[in-house]
Amino acid sequence: MIFHRICGILLKKQEIAGYFILGKVITVANQKGGVAKTTTAINLSAALGHMGKRVLLVDSDPQGNSTTGYGIRAADKKQLSLTTYDVIMGQARPAEAIVQTKFENVSLMPATGELAEAEIRLLKFEQKTLQLRKALLQIKDEYDIIIIDTLPSLGVLALNTLAACDSLIIPMQCEPYSLEGVAELFATIKRVKKSANKSLQILGIVFTMTDKRLMVNREVMKKIRKEFPEDVIFKTEIPRGVRIAEAPSHGEPIIYYDPKSKGADAYLKLAKEVVARL
Ligand code: ADP
Ligand code: MG
Repeated sequence: MIFHRICGILLKKQEIAGYFILGKVITVANQKGGVAKTTTAINLSAALGHMGKRVLLVDSDPQGNSTTGYGIRAADKKQLSLTTYDVIMGQARPAEAIVQTKFENVSLMPATGELAEAEIRLLKFEQKTLQLRKALLQIKDEYDIIIIDTLPSLGVLALNTLAACDSLIIPMQCEPYSLEGVAELFATIKRVKKSANKSLQILGIVFTMTDKRLMVNREVMKKIRKEFPEDVIFKTEIPRGVRIAEAPSHGEPIIYYDPKSKGADAYLKLAKEVVARL
């Protein structure tokens, strides 16, 4: 299949969502930066919470943008005594670091810049890529869905987020180089499946920042759809919209910041698709 050739890995039918019952820990991953990983982690978790699911969002990016997007600003971050860093380093139990957000059913494990230090400090652990997985096992039963926002690197911190999850949501911008980024990600997935996380699956690819008026967008989208089996790509696309981009600086997910916007509607629809696939 073309799909296999492009991605350079053999994905068996069973490894694609829909063939197995998937677990509930989902990492939003793509090795490219700026493809809306964080935006999707924030807004999907909010939409799932709004649907009545008990959600935990784990911010595993030292930039801490998911944390800020939920209204915990730089000044508030200084007050946080425990964060994802402490959990991943085994210095705190997850329950000690998790905070309640003011949004329906969403809890957050916040991140600050300190998390960048984990990249080096994790190396001393024998099971350095399994620290987050082991930690989340302690609290898995308390949530319906756990979403992890990760960083676009391939370091040990990013590997922790790939090892800790059951499946991946891959946000993808429809640009000419998007497929190359995803091919890289698939090569990583293959490596992770061989070592830290044998049962890792792909829940789906979601097109983000789409703009139907742009010819290049439409063409790339068509090309990508051709390369992947139909059921890998979510039917919901996230349109480019200024309200989605504005929402984080107001510390609110889009469904609260502007419930009537196209972006809010799209993330609610995506949440429904995600639940249907789980
Ligand atoms: P990543 O986490 O993959 O690096 P981000 O979620 O931070 O990506 O998004 C990158 C930039 O694109 C941010 O400035 C964000 O506000 C913006 N963005 C993401 N999704 C949309 C969208 N649907 N419409 C407009 N801007 C968006
Ligand atoms: Mg991000």
